[in-house]
Amino acid sequence: MIIEPYNMSDKCNMTHTHDKFIAKSAQLNHVLLQLTVIDWRGSDEFVGFVDDIVNETKQSLSLVDVHIQLFTDTFDNIIPLLPQYLSRVNPNHVFNLTELSQLHSRSEVVQIIAQDDVLKTINLTVPLFNHNDCIGVMHFNGIIESDVPSSTTLSFCHAIGSLIQRNFRLMDNELRYGLSMLTASQSQEEFHRLAFFDSLTGLANRRLLNQTIETQYQLAKKNQVVGALLFIDLDFFKAINDSLGHAVGDGILVEVAERLKEIPRPEDFIARLGGDEFVILLADLSENPMHAEQHANLLAEQLIERISQPYLYKGQALYIGASIGVTLFPSKDQHADDLLKQADTAMYQAKSNGRKKVYFFDVKMQRKADKRLHIYNCLKSAIAKNELFLHYQPQHMVQNGEIIGVEALVRWHLGGKQQISPAEFIPIAEETDLIIDIGIWVLQAACRQFVEWQLQGVNVPQLSVNVSTRQFHDNNFVDSVLMVLEETGMDPMQLNLEITESVVIEHAEDAIRKMTDLKNIGVSFAVDDFGVGYSSLSYLKRLPANELKIDRSFIQNIPYNVSDMAIVEAVLAMAKHMGFNVTAEGVESRQQLEFLQRQQCSFYQGFYASKPLSAEYLALYIKRLQG
Ligand SMILES: [Mg+2]
Repeated sequence: MIIEPYNMSDKCNMTHTHDKFIAKSAQLNHVLLQLTVIDWRGSDEFVGFVDDIVNETKQSLSLVDVHIQLFTDTFDNIIPLLPQYLSRVNPNHVFNLTELSQLHSRSEVVQIIAQDDVLKTINLTVPLFNHNDCIGVMHFNGIIESDVPSSTTLSFCHAIGSLIQRNFRLMDNELRYGLSMLTASQSQEEFHRLAFFDSLTGLANRRLLNQTIETQYQLAKKNQVVGALLFIDLDFFKAINDSLGHAVGDGILVEVAERLKEIPRPEDFIARLGGDEFVILLADLSENPMHAEQHANLLAEQLIERISQPYLYKGQALYIGASIGVTLFPSKDQHADDLLKQADTAMYQAKSNGRKKVYFFDVKMQRKADKRLHIYNCLKSAIAKNELFLHYQPQHMVQNGEIIGVEALVRWHLGGKQQISPAEFIPIAEETDLIIDIGIWVLQAACRQFVEWQLQGVNVPQLSVNVSTRQFHDNNFVDSVLMVLEETGMDPMQLNLEITESVVIEHAEDAIRKMTDLKNIGVSFAVDDFGVGYSSLSYLKRLPANELKIDRSFIQNIPYNVSDMAIVEAVLAMAKHMGFNVTAEGVESRQQLEFLQRQQCSFYQGFYASKPLSAEYLALYIKRLQG
């Protein structure tokens, strides 16, 4: 099709309606207009056209906001054409156009739904024609939040229509837009069917589903009842489609659609999203969320069983299955837009856990994921905002209680108030390169403090600093330690770096080389959390470390857990044999310390001696000890 640039023509005579509307628009307090333009030619001109509409609509109608979505159909992938509006695009609002591309009639559809007296929703689907070719569809969702008479609502629709016509510069003289409240004709019904229903199975399509979700969600909220959305994905369907062809695959999809209709109640809503994905919306299951969950679960299991029964093809039985993800609605912090995504997430879990299963969307998991993201985002600026600080836990000789050093431990006061536990934020930092920056900051701050203690006459024999695996494997690790030593004036002989076994297991040669480089200038190493990881003796033998730190989990149940005591004894015997010193972590009682004395453990740390202290208190602690 050749598209001629459109010159403003006096054939467009809708300006009058438009003006009339503007006169009346003062009555509208708040208008939210959502305009979706669907164009399966994907031409650039269309983008310019939409931009014009947006600007003019905004100006002339004083709209609060205009949301624009423009999609073009490239069969399977629907690509948004307006990157500048991407942030506003609702990802669930995606249109499948393959069925619409079959549209030939010059029909038109206008739906005006008054949900209640105050809030009026306008849904408009407008096919666009050039001569006899339907070249696209426009879809509007408008909410008018005002007590506006329906005649004004209609004028509003006409005004939008005239804007489209006046701006549609792509078209030559034959552009039509459909806007009317005519009595239903056959062609209107036909258009409606094509626009809102799946042509293969006759089920509702994604567009109608999205509208229904929105309506049902608001209804459930208002009536305080619980509903469920089931996301159904067929198992092994692709294999049949690929081996026996699309015609057989389509036959199965039609049959699945029929079986899906058997199980839910008549008021439930069934849609095909596309491919082998179906959705069932169960409205108003119960007032009680637990009952609603049981009900939805039972129904989902029945659906799986029904879908799993054989399909006959030329006397041969074909088998498929289904995985179902479910989300209940409404719930706190959930919007209607979230339902499909949540149920899809649950469905994905069902699939990856062995198929033919029902999984419910786990709100806790989502919250956890959200919280992690929040912590990560805050942590990124924690160093710059001076929110990180260090505490120091004293380490002592087991035999005579003499202080042998301190372990620097990082703490975080988010926003100067809320304390976040290292057990919570360190693993998050460790998943990303954030841990490298944090690790270097900790090393720097601890060394600086250590030197300052020395200047104050506080004699701390040794400083232990934790190094995470990611930080250790960073190419600049050795250089960064050397730089900190130089910057702070810290004596390398007094620095002890704590690494975990995983550091060595992953890249043994690299680890040993880095450790040797630092050991050569006097830095010592301890293997932290010993016993909980691989505890591989063959690696341990080669490690240029001086010390093992027995994990607190083996200490905490002494003297009640005999096997933990046996493990500690064995570690001590082995360490002695291999020439390692041993520090016991998490010593909290006199019995534990006495046990370690009997076993000739070298050092210990834990609440029995002292909890981790601020730099000031640590100085007082040491002064008191050393009299
Ligand atoms: Mg440690």
